[in-house]
Amino acid sequence: MTEAGFARILIVEDEESIADVVCTALRYQGHVVEHVAGGLQGLELGLTGAFDLILLDVMLPGIDGIEVCKRLREKGDLSPVLFLTAKATQDDRIQGFIAGGDDYLPKPFSIDELVLRVQAILRRTTTAAPSDLLRVADLTFEPAGQEVRRSGAPIDLSPTELRLLEYLMVNAGTVLSKAQILAGVWDYDFDGSENVVELYIGYLRRKIDDGHPPLIHTKRGAGYVLRENER
Ligand code: CA
Repeated sequence: MTEAGFARILIVEDEESIADVVCTALRYQGHVVEHVAGGLQGLELGLTGAFDLILLDVMLPGIDGIEVCKRLREKGDLSPVLFLTAKATQDDRIQGFIAGGDDYLPKPFSIDELVLRVQAILRRTTTAAPSDLLRVADLTFEPAGQEVRRSGAPIDLSPTELRLLEYLMVNAGTVLSKAQILAGVWDYDFDGSENVVELYIGYLRRKIDDGHPPLIHTKRGAGYVLRENER
């Protein structure tokens, strides 16, 4: 996001009427919005890294939105992704998060809700955080630069993984329930899909603990805790 407070937003949506309304509303908010209708075009533009946020329809001509997001993440692109979709079953949501999406807005949505979600994501992903270094054992998190290292080696995390790790590190030593984590990291009601917490804890473990003494511990029936020495 620029200092003037507007963001560059890409919308990938094949329904012209929806794209028009969304583009108009976001431009009215002062954002710079680019629109394409196909999955491949969306992927190509997304990979330029020029966008602060990508609004991604799931059902698209060419490759679908989930696949677009997956390929962006595979290529190391960490642009925040908000899925827009008519397929609002829990399973599809989980698929979206597995693909590395950051949020999910089922159609039909009100334009006010869309604007609020966009603001929330931009706030989460672009607000400069306090610069105190978080440290647990040889794991460090530098909030201002969103830089994570284990034994000095940098670790790439998605925006959601970063928020989750920051939450665990700020609360290091405290056992956190899935509901607490859900409320602290995903800041809206998620219809009880606490599976997403398990899923993301799994991602973090693979990136943070792989080949090291584990720092993320499961407390059966209670939740998770990040600490150096498991008792
Ligand atoms: Ca569509």
